[in-house]
Amino acid sequence: MSSGLSLQTPLRRAPGIGDKTAKALADALDLHTVGDLLHHFPRRYARHGEHTDLASLVEGEDVTVMAQVQSVSRRPMRQRRGTMLSVVVGDGRRALTLTFFNATWQGKGLEPGRWGLFAGRVTRFRETWQLNHPHYQVLPGDDAASEVEEFAGALIPVYPATSAVTTWQLANCIKTVLQVFPAPPDPLPDVLKDTRGLVDLGAALHDIHRPPSEGALDAARQRLTWDEAFALQVTLAQRRHAAAASPSRARPPRDSGVLASFDAALPFTLTAGQRDVGETLAAELAVSSPMHRLLQGEVGSGKTVCALRAMLQVVDAGGQAALLAPTEVLAAQHARSLRAMLGPLGEAGELGAAEEATRIALLTGSMSAAARRRTLAEAASGEAGIVVGTHALIQEGVEFADLGLVVVDEQHRFGVEQRDALRAKGRQPPHVLVMTATPIPRTVAMTVFGDLETSELAELPAGRSPIASHVVPVSDKPHFLDRAWTRIREEVGKGHQAYVVCPRIGDDGTPDPAEEPGDGDGDEGAADSGADRRAPLAVADLAPLLAGGPLAGLRLGVLHGRLPADEKDAVMRDFTAGRIDVLVATTVIEVGVDVPNATAMVIMDADRFGVSQLHQLRGRVGRGSAPGLCLLVTEAFGGTPARQRLDAVAATSDGFELARLDLEQRREGDVLGAAQSGRRSRLRLLSLLRDVELIETAREEASRLVAADPDLRDHPALAATVAAMVDAERAEYLEKG
Ligand code: ADP
Ligand code: MG
Repeated sequence: MSSGLSLQTPLRRAPGIGDKTAKALADALDLHTVGDLLHHFPRRYARHGEHTDLASLVEGEDVTVMAQVQSVSRRPMRQRRGTMLSVVVGDGRRALTLTFFNATWQGKGLEPGRWGLFAGRVTRFRETWQLNHPHYQVLPGDDAASEVEEFAGALIPVYPATSAVTTWQLANCIKTVLQVFPAPPDPLPDVLKDTRGLVDLGAALHDIHRPPSEGALDAARQRLTWDEAFALQVTLAQRRHAAAASPSRARPPRDSGVLASFDAALPFTLTAGQRDVGETLAAELAVSSPMHRLLQGEVGSGKTVCALRAMLQVVDAGGQAALLAPTEVLAAQHARSLRAMLGPLGEAGELGAAEEATRIALLTGSMSAAARRRTLAEAASGEAGIVVGTHALIQEGVEFADLGLVVVDEQHRFGVEQRDALRAKGRQPPHVLVMTATPIPRTVAMTVFGDLETSELAELPAGRSPIASHVVPVSDKPHFLDRAWTRIREEVGKGHQAYVVCPRIGDDGTPDPAEEPGDGDGDEGAADSGADRRAPLAVADLAPLLAGGPLAGLRLGVLHGRLPADEKDAVMRDFTAGRIDVLVATTVIEVGVDVPNATAMVIMDADRFGVSQLHQLRGRVGRGSAPGLCLLVTEAFGGTPARQRLDAVAATSDGFELARLDLEQRREGDVLGAAQSGRRSRLRLLSLLRDVELIETAREEASRLVAADPDLRDHPALAATVAAMVDAERAEYLEKG
């Protein structure tokens, strides 16, 4: 039988799906083709007569529950015309009242004794749990013998749905399509399926939607998870293959040169970790196979020094290095601290410069035209050995004489595509080093970030001070906030400086525009909050309150992303020089700001920030010899998820532990979405946390296959899957511009 259906068939041309439904599927769920629909997998499975659902109701959640009708009553409404229908359903343990207002024609099929699926938002009125105006579907009664068979003990799929398209509408569409859908071409090679014991694609797609048994469901899931891991790994293997075909230039170290002079003048000894990393980087730069490495290490662990040494090796070899920072503030700060570290070695062309010196140029979006022209000229002529900047470096027409190394500081905003774009700037693709203080699991490094090798700086340089973190719960204990301000005054009294961080700039209610953290976890708190929550505290509102109140008499400065660049720069300079005691700021200070004399930080509305962001933020204190203090101010009550998150941050300063916690709390899609700029994650089943082994096996299999057949000539179905994946990625990148 050939229905002419394929995974690419538009849904409106699929049988049993009318134009209206097709439009609803497209608008509400972004499902356009038969393939999209069949890859819209059930979120879970309900079993007929299952007893677990009602016990776990949470107020305010959208749920689909299976329950049995216990009683039905209709009565006229008091205030209005029409009747109100009240249906009590239960699962033997808990009861739930369904309420339909003005429901003259509602309630069809809802007879006592019948089982049904009920979907809606859970509310509670006194002791009664309710669903108001739920969608529902009555399951076939026990008299309908033929259908009993279908439902008896069956796993009923419950789909991620919306109010426009219910789970059973989806189930019906999928069922209809599956009935006429011919076995699709299978992208997984037969050998692979045989050795891994994987079922065919057609069977897997059927069984994940209409599982005949738990066993079949597991097999289907396993198979479809493989599809995701394998397509991803084949894409990456092809990238590796292509990269090997266009080598970078080898940049071997020199015995004498700017790096040797830098090392000789270094005011401290490198930690063992820094030396190890240094050797790895030096060796990788010395050969033509492109370096592609992620350097992870706690805030303050000394990554920048490692990166600078790598950049100097490239300069010694006649090349240039670019350093990309996520914000303008940070780019300016980097340029400043690189210049400070290099001293005369970074002042080529100036009076008193060392003979082997190079130059550092800064390029940001908001520079004056003259400054910009100068930087562009220095980059193009090769005069500047190191060019520091934001995205502007890759987005605008910046020419390098010989770009040999790209260093990306903080991976947040730089996904695979951005790196590719930058790599295309060199005549030969430059080596790439990505630095991050937010550790990421190896699987994420391998997938989301396009196959980076990873190195870690595990120890902090000697002489670092511990940071004590405390939650300041202002809802239970308002006077604690006064204590926080007193602590700040004490620190300033000892000659130290402090930060006060707010989630928002203020005035117009927008978050900090350019400087919002790229991983979007600033919004995380919003996930467990209602829309009626008050707006987060703003710099513009808090700064004057502090100046006229608890911090009166101290020298306050304000820093956020909407300030003009030169003003931002001036504020940072004043703070660094100790001319400002307390800096009231947004997350612009999140990464890289390095003022060792700053010892205290108060984070307002701390529950509005994500775990790793809080960790980054507090890394700004305790960078000198005095111990650091971080106070996490929150209105969240004890026991709430928001409070638990803050307690966890206060309890540990182990970045790896916190990264794990962070990943656990976010949905997988968020992790990918943030890093990959994906609107809709293409990984539905694959978990980067859970499926580590599968991903590694898939990687080996993919490498083997691509080595033998780089263009996938012998695997057309796989080629199509991979092409679709790469296209989607590219489309999103272009869209994002
Ligand atoms: P990261 O980029 O990892 O956050 P940095 O490279 O900015 O850390 O280093 C933080 C501070 O520690 C800088 O002031 C740097 O000069 C200093 N530093 C780096 N390595 C060492 C070391 N081995 N010993 C002492 N101080 C160091
Ligand atoms: Mg840094």
